[in-house]
Amino acid sequence: MTGTVDLSFSSDGLVATLTLGAPEERAITLTPARITSFVAALSKVAQSNARGLVVRAPSIESFCVGADISLIQGVTEPTKGSELAAQGQRAYDQLEDLGITTVAAIGGPCVGGGCEMVLACQYRIIADLPASSIGLPETKLGILPGFGGTYRLPRVVGLPKALDIILAGKTLKASQALKASLVDEVVSAEKIFARAEEIARGQRLPKPRKLRLADWLLSSNLLGRSFVRSRARSAMMAQTKGFYPAPPKALDLTVSGLGRSRVDALGIEARELGNLIVTPESKSLVHIFFLTEASKALGKSARKDIEKMHALVVGAGTMGAGIAGALARSSHQVIVKDTSESSLKRGKDHVTKELSKLRYLSSFERAAVGNRIDWLQFSSDTVSRSGIAIEAVFEDMGLKKKIFAGLAKEVSPACILASNTSSLSVTEMAESLPHPERFVGMHFFNPVEKMPLVEIIRGEKTSDEAIAKVAALATEMGKFPIVVRDGPGFLVNRILIPYLNEAVYLLQEGHSVQEIDGAALAFGMPMGPIRLLDEVGLDVAAHVSKIMVEGYGERMAVPNFAEKLMELGRKGRKSSAGFFEYHGKESKPWEGLASALGLPARPETAASREEIAERLVYHLVNEAMKCLDEGVAGSDRELAEKQIDLGTVMGIGFPPFRGGVLHFAHSRGLALIHSKLSELERRFGSRYSPFSLRVERAVAQ
Ligand code: NAD
Repeated sequence: MTGTVDLSFSSDGLVATLTLGAPEERAITLTPARITSFVAALSKVAQSNARGLVVRAPSIESFCVGADISLIQGVTEPTKGSELAAQGQRAYDQLEDLGITTVAAIGGPCVGGGCEMVLACQYRIIADLPASSIGLPETKLGILPGFGGTYRLPRVVGLPKALDIILAGKTLKASQALKASLVDEVVSAEKIFARAEEIARGQRLPKPRKLRLADWLLSSNLLGRSFVRSRARSAMMAQTKGFYPAPPKALDLTVSGLGRSRVDALGIEARELGNLIVTPESKSLVHIFFLTEASKALGKSARKDIEKMHALVVGAGTMGAGIAGALARSSHQVIVKDTSESSLKRGKDHVTKELSKLRYLSSFERAAVGNRIDWLQFSSDTVSRSGIAIEAVFEDMGLKKKIFAGLAKEVSPACILASNTSSLSVTEMAESLPHPERFVGMHFFNPVEKMPLVEIIRGEKTSDEAIAKVAALATEMGKFPIVVRDGPGFLVNRILIPYLNEAVYLLQEGHSVQEIDGAALAFGMPMGPIRLLDEVGLDVAAHVSKIMVEGYGERMAVPNFAEKLMELGRKGRKSSAGFFEYHGKESKPWEGLASALGLPARPETAASREEIAERLVYHLVNEAMKCLDEGVAGSDRELAEKQIDLGTVMGIGFPPFRGGVLHFAHSRGLALIHSKLSELERRFGSRYSPFSLRVERAVAQ
C-alpha cells in the first residue's frame, strides 16, 4: 500500500524484509502514517523467529528522501515540531533495540530521515549507482537532523566527519560514504539484496568499521571535542556569517550528544528541532526547496526526449567550455566547434582542470567524462546527430545570425538551436531561420560550474516543446532553469542593474565603498555591489548599462563612473584595478577613487547602514514587482513569483535565508515598501518610481 511499509519473511522465517513503500511510489517520504506502519512492522519482527532484518525500498533507484517537506512547511508551533521528531526517534530506537542483525540495503538517495533510519541499523550497504547518495541535508532547510542524526552520526563516523556532513548539509556518493565509514560495503545493484540477506543471516559479516585514530581521539575525549568544536565553529561562521540559526544549534548538539545518554540527547534534539522548524529562516529555506521543485517540473514532459541527446557547442571560450563540461558530466556526447585552435585547447584544459576537482570520481571515470567531448574533429555527419546546438561565440548579433543560418542547414530538422547570449534579442536572432519555433535562449551564468541558474528565454515564436526540452536538459545538467520573456536584461540582469546603479549613486553622494558594500553584506548579500561591479568588469557593466537605458529609458541611467575608471585603465578585477585595487588575493577600496571621480568627502545627509541597505534592496523589489506585473516570468502569476524568487537567489545571490526577493517583500509588507519607494522618489527622482500597488495587493497587506 502506498504511504505505508511492507513486511515479508524468507521461506524459513529467519530473515524479515521491511520494504519502505509500494512499487508505484517514486520517492519514499516519511509521514506520520508511514512511521506508524514502520513501528507496527518492527513489533511484528520482534515477535517473530527472524534472526535478521533487511530494510530496503521498493526500488534500488531511491531509498528514502526523508520527511515530507510540506509537513515541515506546515509546522507553526514548536511543540508540534518536537512531537514529530519524537515520533521518528522512538521508531528508530525500536529499530536499534531490536536485538537481531539489522542491515540496510541502500540505492539512490538515502537522505535526512532516511539516513537517520539506516544509522539505527547495524550494517549499511549501498549500491554502486551514480544516483546513490547518503547524508543529512537538514541544515539546508534551516532545521537539524531530528530523528537521532545528531546523536548517532558522530558515533558511526566520528565527530569531525559528522560535523562536516551535518553543518554543511552534505550528502555523500557511495564511494565517499565508504571512505567515511558511513557504509560498510559498496555492492553492485544486481547483488545488493542477496548480499543484504546474507548479512542478515549472519553470514560473511562486513569487517568491523574502525575510526581513524585521529578521528577516534577527537571524538572520544573532552579536549579533542572542544578542539573540533572551535575549528568547526570558525569554518561555519565564515560560511554562514551568523545569518542561519540551525548550524550553531546542530554543532552544539552533535558535540554535546557524544557525552549524553541516548534519552537525554534525543530529548534535547527534539526540542531544538521544534524551535528551529518555526523560524523565518527555515520557512524561507523550505520555500526555496519548493522553488527548486517547480524549476525541475518545467522540463518534466520532455525528460525522455533528451536522454542521450548529442549536443553541439559553438564557441570554446569561457562559457562554451563550461557548458560542454557540464553536458559531458551529465552523460551527453558533445562536439565543440571553434574557429580558434588556441580557444579549443584552452577549453579542453579548462574542462580537464574542473574535472580534476571532482574527487568522488575515479581517474577512469574522469577520463570517461572528458572523452565524451570531441574538441577538434568536426564533420557534418556527426553534427547532424545533434539534438541541440548551443552557441556561445562573441556577443555580436551579426556573427550569431550568420552562425545560426549555417547551423540551420547542417543540423537535423528536429535539432533545437539555442543561444547563450546575455543581452541580445532572441526573437531577432531567430527571425530569418526556417524553424524559429525551435529557437531559444539558454543563458548560463559565469562560471558555469558554480552558477546553478539557467535563464531560458522564450522568443516570440519559441514553442512550448522546445522550452520543455531545454528545461529538461538544464535540469539534467544539475542546473535550475527558469523561463523568461525576451527583453533587455531578460529577468535576472534587469532586476540586478537598478541595484548596482543605486550603489553608484550612493557613491556619488559621498558614501564610502565600505559603507555601501558593508550595508549589502549586513543584509546578507554574498558580495557588496561595488565589488560585484569590479568582478563583472567595468567594460561589461558599461555595455549592459547602455542596453538597459535603450530598453527602459532614463530610470536605468547611472553616473558614468565605469567609463571614467576605464579611461584610467581600471577595468575592475580583470585588470587588478577598478573601484578596488588588487594585490594577489588581497584587495582594498582604491584610495584615489574620490579625487578621480570628484566625489564629496561625505554625504550631505548621513544614512544608517539599514537605510543604505533599504535603498539598494528596495530597487531589487521594485524591479522584480515590475517584471511580475509585465509577465516577464510568464503569465501564471504563482509560477512567475516562484521563478523570480529562484532567479534572484540563484542568479543574484539574494540571501537564501530571506527566501527570494518577493518572499522577502511579502514578509516585510508590500505596502510598506511601496510607501518607502514613493518617499525615495520624492527625494531622489524617477529612478525610484514604484511598482503599481493594485487594490487587491493593498487589501492583502
Ligand atoms: P569568449 O570570448 O570567452 O569566447 C567566445 C569564443 O567564440 C572564442 O573562443 C572564439 O574563438 C569563438 N568564436 C568566435 N567566432 C566563432 C565562430 N564563427 N565559430 C566558432 N567559434 C567562434 O566569450 P564568452 O565569455 O564565453 O561569451 C560567449 C557568449 O556567452 C556571449 O554571447 C556572452 O554574452 C555570453 N555570456 C557570457 C558570460 C560571461 O560572463 N562571460 C555570461 C553569460 C553569457
